[in-house]
Amino acid sequence: MVKVPEKATPFFEYAPAPESRAIVDIKASYGLFIDGEFVDGHGKSFKTINPATEEVLAEVAEADEADVDLAVQAARRAHSRVWGRMPGSERAKYLFRIARIISERSRELAVLESIDNGKPIKESRDVDVPIVAAHFFYYAGWADKLSHAGLGPDPRPLGVAGQIIPWNFPLLMLAWKIAPALAAGNTVVLKPAETTPLTALLFAEICQQADLPAGVVNIVTGAGATGQALVAHAGVDKVAFTGSTEVGKAIARTVAGTTKKVTLELGGKAANIVFDDAPIDQAIEGIVNGIFFNQGHVCCAGSRLLVQESVADEVLERLKRRMSTLRVGDPLDKNTDVGAINSAEQLARIHELSDVGESEGGQRWSPACELPANGFWFPPTLFTGVTQAHRIAREEIFGPVLSVLTFRTPAEAVEKANNTPYGLSAGVWTDKGSRILWMANQLRAGVVWANTFNKFDPTSPFGGYKESGYGREGGIPGLAAYLNPDSKAGA
Ligand code: NAP
Ligand code: MG
Repeated sequence: MVKVPEKATPFFEYAPAPESRAIVDIKASYGLFIDGEFVDGHGKSFKTINPATEEVLAEVAEADEADVDLAVQAARRAHSRVWGRMPGSERAKYLFRIARIISERSRELAVLESIDNGKPIKESRDVDVPIVAAHFFYYAGWADKLSHAGLGPDPRPLGVAGQIIPWNFPLLMLAWKIAPALAAGNTVVLKPAETTPLTALLFAEICQQADLPAGVVNIVTGAGATGQALVAHAGVDKVAFTGSTEVGKAIARTVAGTTKKVTLELGGKAANIVFDDAPIDQAIEGIVNGIFFNQGHVCCAGSRLLVQESVADEVLERLKRRMSTLRVGDPLDKNTDVGAINSAEQLARIHELSDVGESEGGQRWSPACELPANGFWFPPTLFTGVTQAHRIAREEIFGPVLSVLTFRTPAEAVEKANNTPYGLSAGVWTDKGSRILWMANQLRAGVVWANTFNKFDPTSPFGGYKESGYGREGGIPGLAAYLNPDSKAGA
């Protein structure tokens, strides 16, 4: 075993490196974006806050059933009169224009995302926003080539898509939903999460800037009831949902018996599997990225580390050392690795499940780290002594908490990895290509990463097995989810 120094040597002291928030112009209040205009809602309003400071950022309209109805009607008109009839080559021009504006305004989008969500600026700047632009560029390229996608000679749009997204990747989930829907000729009504509405509203401004025809994109802010009204609306042809398995099941019940098409992208409890022949330093980076990226608010997070027994001590020692170097704090500091937990509710859930982990016999460890006085924070944490029966090995914590289990043989690794109600993603770390392929075949997960983790690309389909949902987003399957190969109904 390679000897690891007991303490990480602090080679550098970091000076604060704050990103300026002067680039964003947050208004005191926001209306709903319906039919190309910002309008007052009929309902109440709610506040969105900065989870790193608890500062109120803006007052946002809460769409009620009547507002949702207006948005769906606007989307229907835009679909039948303009967007559904427009040649794909024309739709592509709008999508390319949106993609270009996103790139041009990327710093503004990244800063706003970090302020409203709590994620580190280096993540929103280097990961989220570039992939958002990539999605629009990618699907813009498909808009005039739908008949070459292998989906029939003349695939038709479904009509109006009702789309509901969570708070962990607000703008990225918006892009995953809106880009393929528009490329395929659908119009959309999108509901962002209650705690993170601001980048969706800035995206609405981008639609105006791009001269997108009115009603093609509508944004209805609100909470669960707004989402429910959208799902239940008779004028919606397709429901696309990303969020928790619990709400996903409720949505499936609501649309059962209707002709609405549905895709559900739900939770996960991914196994990140490290074999004894893995490049250990690389694997440590992958484990850290797998669970501490975006504070662990990631559906495909590698929240269960399965490590081969013969290297478990070494991996744990190195992992703890690496965790001691993670910088937790101000999301707008360019050196921050782990930002704020998105809400007080989510923080309470992470505390609750971590306490259960301890009371069920797991050993909890976190590096010494000073957390800011205001805002919602949780230190990077790992649990050892975890068995498959423990709740922290079974339930999605959706926070920076890693459960560590061990295995002896590849068959045991597969058995343990698949022993979950979910099946969204998995990671395999090994030197052997044949073992990677064997494992990928055995694992019941929609995405299997090999010697890497949390890699996303618009060309690559993403989605789950079992309680992680059904349908795929990304690539051609992501386009197929918005097209009808054999009907002219949506035209
Ligand atoms: P959530 O509570 O299910 O909320 C998701 C969205 O649904 C939010 O916009 C929410 O509104 C809305 N909503 C709540 N109740 C609703 C209802 N009855 N009908 C219609 N819409 C309703 O999930 P979350 O806690 O925000 O997000 C975390 C979950 O998302 C995790 O389980 C995570 O794994 C999953 N996720 C999955 C993927 C994937 O691709 N598979 C990606 C990211 C996240 P409000 O927030 O405004 O209440
Ligand atoms: Mg917020």
